[in-house]
Parts: sequence; structure tokens; C-alpha cells
Amino acid sequence: MPPRNARLTIDTAALVANWRRFAKAGGAAACGAAVKADGYGVGARASAQALVAAGCRDLFVAHWHEVEALTGIDARIAVLHGFGADEMATALASPAVPVLATPAQVAAWKPTGRPCDVMVDTGLNRLGLSPGEALSGLLDGLQLDTLHSHLACAEIAGHPRNELQRARFADLAARIPARRHALANSGGIGLGPGYHFALTRPGIGLYGGGPAPDGGHLAAVVALSARILQIRTVAAGDSIGYGATYTAPHDLRIAVVALGYADGYVRSLSNAGAALAGDVRCPAVGRVSMDMAAFDVSAAPALSEGDFLDIDFDLAKTAAASGRSEYELLTGLGARYARVYT
Ligand SMILES: *Cc1c(COP(=O)(O)O)cnc(C)c1O
Repeated sequence: MPPRNARLTIDTAALVANWRRFAKAGGAAACGAAVKADGYGVGARASAQALVAAGCRDLFVAHWHEVEALTGIDARIAVLHGFGADEMATALASPAVPVLATPAQVAAWKPTGRPCDVMVDTGLNRLGLSPGEALSGLLDGLQLDTLHSHLACAEIAGHPRNELQRARFADLAARIPARRHALANSGGIGLGPGYHFALTRPGIGLYGGGPAPDGGHLAAVVALSARILQIRTVAAGDSIGYGATYTAPHDLRIAVVALGYADGYVRSLSNAGAALAGDVRCPAVGRVSMDMAAFDVSAAPALSEGDFLDIDFDLAKTAAASGRSEYELLTGLGARYARVYT
């Protein structure tokens, strides 16, 4: 295999440490893990293996094909999208369970007698049965394992919709018997014990995004570096990159790096991102192109062509600099990296 010129280093000990923090903050609730979208870009299989070894027993994916990456991993897998008519056979043959989201799915699944989860919508207005549908008798006779709902505003602690959804779900949980009830994503776990129920479903926080449930900082999981393809001098007054969006104020030493928007180093980081040479911040200069970006390494004379340059991919900072969410940054990382698990 030819070497890769961009590298994601994934700290599985940090991933596990973050999960343990959510597990602890969730009190008596079991703590699952959302590993959809290839583990938020970090790698579903490696992430799931590390989390299951640490004691995680519930994994969540969006699609049936995402179950394949988890083959052989000893955990309960739930598929959040439920199933379409053409996915029923796949669902029945799968070791995973569907999270039923519509009355049609409930009607189709009930005669199988197989266990399943159900999503009820308490105010996000995305997937799920309405509370009225869930209480209509529709679920009678269903092998219901876990009843779920999902918060719209969990990352905004004081938002009134959180309490509205919590109260609606607590009412449903009291009236709809299930082995477990589950409401909280990463943000929801920090909202307090009233949100924990029997099972939680953190995602982004495991991978280092967003605030910690206990108020501190989560451990960074992903570090990004890419090969310096060329070092060039750009003379004062000359411009760098497509569109000539950056003009050198004085002579600059520029590293052209094998990292671009096709790798999820988004174009809005043009003239806004940074690389790090030890403690020295090396600003992104000029427009990020598909396969390359340029950084001003004038203050880092030890760097040379062929070196890997560390890119500042602090999620909060990079989200603020790019206008993208931490979720988009992680899930957009792309397929061209060497993913190295430490
Ligand atoms: C993605 C997802 C989660 C995880 O949410 P985070 O905000 O990443 O913690 C939990 N529950 C459901 C239903 C989801 O779709």
C-alpha cells in the first residue's frame, strides 16, 4: 500500500476516558455510544471495540449497512432509522434491532415477534411516533425493548424545550412499559438526573466535541497531520492560492501541505485555520483547495519538505473559525487519511 500523506491519530484511551465521564455523569443509567457515520468520522469499528472493552453494551448506528462494520463486536446494536419496506429482510437477518419510527414499521414488525426499540417524538419533530400514536394501543403485542426519544436543544442547558421534552417523555415512560427508556444524547446527560432514565446515547462528546457533562473539558480524540509537499518563499506583495485571497505583507516561508477540502479541511478555513509547529502557530494563508492548503511557517524554520505538519484541529476553535459545527468537521474527515489508533 502506498503511504498516505495525511494522517488522523486517534487516541482510543481519550475516547474511553470521555465515555467513562458520560457513564459516570449518567449515574445508574447504562451508557451506550452512537457510532453512526463511521464513528463520527473517527472509525466505527475501532471506536466500538475500545468502548465495548471498557464496558459499553449498547451501540447506535443510523443505517443497516453500518451494522456490517461492527460484526463480531459483543454489544447490542440498534439501527436508529428503523427500516424501509425494502430493508425488512435485511433487518430480520441482522443481529441488530430496529428502532421503529412510524406506525407502518410497527405494523410490519409486530407479527415477527422479534424484539425491537421504538422512537417516540416529544418535540424534535424528526423521526418517531407521536405521543398519541404511542399511546393508542399500537404498541400492544410488540416485543418492545427500549423506548427512545431525542432532545432538540440539549446543548442549550437553559432552553425551555428540554424540560418540555423531559416531562412529555417521563409521562410516556410511566404509561408505556419497556425494559428501558432512553432520552439523553451527549448534551442531555449534562442536563441532570431527570434526563438519564435507564440508558443514555452519547455521540459527539465521546469523540471530544462539546462540553463535558460535569462541566470541564473533554479529552481530544482526533489529531490531524499532513505532509509538507513543498516549502516556498513568497515575496512581499505576492499572493497565495486560488483567487489570490492572501497577499504576503513581507517575505514569507510557506509550507504547502497535502490536505484540502476533499479531506474535510473545509474551504471556510481559508485564511482562518492554523497549523502548529510545537507551540508556534502557523496560520493558514490563501484559499484551501481540494487537495492542498498553505501555512505560513516563517516562524518555524526547522520544518522541511517531507515532514508531517500538525494541523490545529481543536474542535471548538476550528468550529468557530470555519462556521461549521463540530459534528460536521468530524464526520466530514473523508477517506484519504491513514487512521492511526494509539
Ligand atoms: C446521533 C444521535 C445521538 C447522539 O447525539 P450526540 O449529540 O452526538 O451526543 C443520540 N440519539 C440519537 C437518536 C441520535 O440520532
